[in-house]
Amino acid sequence: MDLKDCKVLLVDDIKANTALLKKLLKSDYQIDTVNDGKDALHYIESSLPDLVLLDIVMPDIDGYEVCQQLKADERSKDVPIVFITSLNEEGDEYKGLKLGAIDYITKPFNKNIVRARVRNHLITKKQSDLLKNLSNLDGLTSISNRYCFDNYLNNEWQRAMRSDEPLSLILMDIDFFKQYNDHYGHLAGDDCLKQVAQSLDCSIKRSTDFVARYGGEEFVAVLPKTSSDDAIILAEIFRKNIEKLVIKHEFSSTEQHVTISLGVATMIPERNTLPQLLIEAADRNLYKAKESGRNQVKR
Ligand code: GH3
Ligand code: MG
Ligand code: MG
Repeated sequence: MDLKDCKVLLVDDIKANTALLKKLLKSDYQIDTVNDGKDALHYIESSLPDLVLLDIVMPDIDGYEVCQQLKADERSKDVPIVFITSLNEEGDEYKGLKLGAIDYITKPFNKNIVRARVRNHLITKKQSDLLKNLSNLDGLTSISNRYCFDNYLNNEWQRAMRSDEPLSLILMDIDFFKQYNDHYGHLAGDDCLKQVAQSLDCSIKRSTDFVARYGGEEFVAVLPKTSSDDAIILAEIFRKNIEKLVIKHEFSSTEQHVTISLGVATMIPERNTLPQLLIEAADRNLYKAKESGRNQVKR
């Protein structure tokens, strides 16, 4: 397994310690160094390392606190943390492991053992990243899949409920795609799906907007904190960008190229309701778009 691109973050208030670890690991991995807890948290806000080697005793925010904060944040909770510390009481180690650290190394340490442990943890991290990707990405189009969409929508539904904000959803379906497959073949159909997926995925700009393959030739977008009017604007962008691909479709009854129909729905979720309500509303509007002649947006 190639681990050269793995990013390891070293955190220690004593620069000689980070320098020593850096020397030990820099020929095998990408190494970054920070010298206090605050900088560690700051670093991880903008970039997620594959492993953190974390000192415990530091001024202001100590290593335990850094670990706790990283484990409490959905974004950083899967970053493996290894404590590397001069605290060698069993109670310290127990506390570190209870906070979610994957390993605990005491100083002074044996260089070869540290190197071997780091390597083992990075292999496990890479394997778990791979599994996460496989379970969340659609095999054909490489955009998010239905499983990932279900999770995302459930989370955003709960969040919108708590914050009393609108959540919008766009359901999209390729027009006359059966005709496309029948005349150009299934492989060309697959290629068309990939192009449509990439176009939709590239059309979103906000970091919270989300696009997935819903199934077959259907796609879905989840737009947190987005009003109905703003969702309509984005839906029109999706529709136009698919037209701009100009994928030839002589057997479509709307245009000479591939087009999509879109149904938009927006809700402020009420207590004790499920996001299926939003999907059903978008589906009804998609049906309206199909009935009204396809290649259009309805809400
Ligand atoms: P409408 O405009 O009403 O949506 O008509 P349509 O022909 O697009 O809809 P229909 O549901 O009749 O056909 C969908 C087609 O999508 C049929 C199915 O074979 C095809 N399809 C679904 N998944 C895939 C896939 O992964 N690859 C390919 N090539 N085709 C797929
Ligand atoms: Mg369909
Ligand atoms: Mg269709």
